[in-house]
Amino acid sequence: MFCEENHLEGHFKITFFFCSIVLAKTNINMTKPIVSLVVSFILSFIWIGCTVDGNLDKANQNVVNEQNETGPITLVIHGGAGTILKENMTPELEKQYREKLEEALQAGYKILADGRSSIEAVVASIQIMEASPLFNAGVGAVYTHDGRNELDASIMDGQTGNAGAVAGVTTIKSPIQAALEVMLHSSHVMMAGPGAEAFAEAHGLEMVPNSYFGTERRKEALEKALKKEVEGTTDLLQYQDWKYGTVGAVALDQYGNIAAGTSTGGMTNKRYGRIGDSPIIGAGTFAENSTCGVSCTGHGEYFIRNVVAYDIAARMKYEELSVQESAKKVVQNKLAGLGGEGGVICLDRKGNVAMEFNTSGMYRGYIQNSQTHVYIYKEE
Ligand code: ASP
Repeated sequence: MFCEENHLEGHFKITFFFCSIVLAKTNINMTKPIVSLVVSFILSFIWIGCTVDGNLDKANQNVVNEQNETGPITLVIHGGAGTILKENMTPELEKQYREKLEEALQAGYKILADGRSSIEAVVASIQIMEASPLFNAGVGAVYTHDGRNELDASIMDGQTGNAGAVAGVTTIKSPIQAALEVMLHSSHVMMAGPGAEAFAEAHGLEMVPNSYFGTERRKEALEKALKKEVEGTTDLLQYQDWKYGTVGAVALDQYGNIAAGTSTGGMTNKRYGRIGDSPIIGAGTFAENSTCGVSCTGHGEYFIRNVVAYDIAARMKYEELSVQESAKKVVQNKLAGLGGEGGVICLDRKGNVAMEFNTSGMYRGYIQNSQTHVYIYKEE
């Protein structure tokens, strides 16, 4: 409205300016100056109006095109950040990680290439990683202090702003699927514990015994953590093996819609129903078509306190940063400055990818124009 009034005011000013020139240059009908002035005014008003409006239309068109211009279908994923050093990795294990990341990328990309939605691609990609014992999500989730697995997940649709999340669930086979169900078939955003499980079961999701998620490797990590705790060398969450393994995905579909999702077992030795950032919209996951999609991994308490996923999107909007600049600023300056370890994957509507972390490695990769890129270490 304000702009329209301004526009009209400018229109009048230019009209008066032209009228004066016309009157000054010509001597027509000086005997009837009022008639001459009115005729000249009307003609000028119409002519200038057409020109100005034409230009404005062109300018508006450019803005619309700029906003609608979207990049190629793209999928970016992570499988957790932490102390991932080459010297601690066997070639066989490294190969397994790379192959699984590749598989997750291909699964999601196929969905995008078939013309399906970014939400579907995110879920498919995350489900591949949830089913793999390599990652701290679904099978292979870390253990709580009490020796069980409590899982968190969330998903967000960047087109509608809809979101769904589950927290502290122990018997839902695919937590990301449950988060999607909450988003699509409930009027809530987040459900926790037994309530979330009852909802999932009522909606026909596959349920499993808690032992389905357990692995020897994660049991050993808990035993180590408990030992450290007894020795008094650490508090509840200080001791971690710092190979988090949370999984996440962000996708851009051919309709220009971004979606983001995250799924995790949380942190080893967590207790008292501790919930991390992963199921919290704005902290561990965020998606908004006009800015970007984000999925985080790392020491969740820092990500919650700093609303990391939303902060990255907000800086793009308010500071007019690119997705890479924003991710870098939040992860390397803000988060690292506070001692918060971890990383993020981000994707904007043009298909620009950011994979930023302040640890020695992050399982990560992206696929665009059918080209897959998979990385583990910092130096890659
Ligand atoms: N952010 C997760 C949490 O704090 C852990 C992780 O990313 O590995 O629960």
